[in-house]
Amino acid sequence: MKSKAVKTKKKVTAAPKSRCGHRVTTEETTELEWLGGHNDLPPNFKRVEESDLKRTKFGSYHPDWIEFKQALVPGDPCYANLHLLIYYDGSGVAYQVDHYPEPGDPTVLWYTFSKCEHKFTAQGIGNCLRRETCSKCGYSEEIDSSG
Ligand SMILES: [Zn+2]
Repeated sequence: MKSKAVKTKKKVTAAPKSRCGHRVTTEETTELEWLGGHNDLPPNFKRVEESDLKRTKFGSYHPDWIEFKQALVPGDPCYANLHLLIYYDGSGVAYQVDHYPEPGDPTVLWYTFSKCEHKFTAQGIGNCLRRETCSKCGYSEEIDSSG
């Protein structure tokens, strides 16, 4: 049974959208300040394996924002070109193309990050419908598991 998240509460003001539908960040946009500066790693940044992406929004949702950073990833003395896919709940997936991988190493390196490491508590609000609320930041979403 596949869960389907329904946005019920948006913590941020939506950024303007481009003609293709992507949200566009501008100098005036402050909703992504939590990501830090261009050379900063986003909060809760972690290296993951490709198989870990199934536990993210990567496979099911279109990102609300796309950003690019050049930052130092722990263990690598060179600045990494990081492409960030950021989702409505403040979670995200980043990837880096490793142009000089060692033999046997992956060419694309994957990472996750998040504004908050959500700690959800669930509340049933209907048949196959539950509301999950983060006790840390207050973010809330409804999950319809009816199919
Ligand atoms: Zn949270």
